[in-house]
Amino acid sequence: MGGFSVFDSMQRYQYEQIIHLYDHATGLKGITVIHNTTLGPALGGTRIWNYASEEEALTDCLRLARGMTFKSAAAGLNLGGGKTVLIGDASKLKSEAYFRALGRYVQSLNGRYITAEDVNTSTKDMGYVAMETDHVVGLEGKSGNPSPVTALGVFNGVKAGLFKKFGDADIEKYSFAVQGAGQTGYYLIGYLLEAGAKKIYFTELNPAHIERMKREHPEVVFVQPDEIYGQEVDVFSPCALGGSLNGDTIPRIKAPVIAGSANNALLDEEVHGKMIMDRGIIYCPDFVINAGGIINVYHEIKGYNRERALADAARIYDRLLDIFDIAEREHVPTQQAAKMFAEQRIEAVHQLQRTFIPR
Ligand code: NAD
Repeated sequence: MGGFSVFDSMQRYQYEQIIHLYDHATGLKGITVIHNTTLGPALGGTRIWNYASEEEALTDCLRLARGMTFKSAAAGLNLGGGKTVLIGDASKLKSEAYFRALGRYVQSLNGRYITAEDVNTSTKDMGYVAMETDHVVGLEGKSGNPSPVTALGVFNGVKAGLFKKFGDADIEKYSFAVQGAGQTGYYLIGYLLEAGAKKIYFTELNPAHIERMKREHPEVVFVQPDEIYGQEVDVFSPCALGGSLNGDTIPRIKAPVIAGSANNALLDEEVHGKMIMDRGIIYCPDFVINAGGIINVYHEIKGYNRERALADAARIYDRLLDIFDIAEREHVPTQQAAKMFAEQRIEAVHQLQRTFIPR
């Protein structure tokens, strides 16, 4: 594997376990990474992707599993971080047997790892996984579509950002620019309108999503993708793909608060997290504000109750205020403060586990 050492990486970022899967009959080929299980079983979805190399697949799986550790820890869940990537062309590989083979691998981990859907896998696919293991969530008829819950968490994060900047979270006093009106952006705009938002601008690439917004909410103003950054608004909400906060876009943003659903919104966490802080903008860290989806599936493990899941997602507001305090106290960007917050919780629970208590 060239200059890349698996064990160096495991040591450096404290990975617990890497499992390679190869099922000869179905062609299932992939990797499961368990990063950290201090807080509970490692949870992370299964992604199918046509990676250019095994190294690229492993690197992606390592990065995603570690991200899940931070996300669940910061969300206050008793879950660790893990992920599965399956290598190949999803359109050619998918079958009942393929996903049942995956289910058998998941079962062999005996509950150390729980899977769910992710890029190129669906609730239907997870139904096949569930034929072989109980350690799968996001099933049809259970916690359902996570996006409205994610959007509700983001809505509460927007309020926390406003409160931090202006001392109140009265949505009707403020204006918003939403980038992406897909699964999460669409619902977020709905919550903002319901709360009486003063003005909302949105941008989209998908004509069907532009049409839907124009039809359902004509008062929401469409702007071209490149114009969304420069809008004179109070909140910029990235709800499209990752990397939209970068050296080119950050200087153009006029909003004093950035709060949206997009994963990996910062192109470079350190460089661009600091750039945003130096401009005096309040940034709601992505893995904290968009945790509604994982909070939702977590409730599926405990016995799903929609109201409890929604109430839990709303707690993202308080969590962000705590993180803003850490950032201020430590003079670090909020993204870094969020990692410190997650690490502190893992460490505190780790210390608790030093004493043996039979249950
Ligand atoms: P989605 O694909 O349903 O919506 C994204 C929308 O953004 C699409 O309609 C797309 O056309 C649009 N878009 C893409 N690039 C754009 C651009 N440059 N300008 C304008 N519009 C653009 O995805 P989603 O489920 O809403 O997820 C959005 C982000 O939130 C992703 O980064 C995702 O990883 C993250 N996220 C989603 C959830 C969830 O529950 N859905 C949970 C956590 C994180």
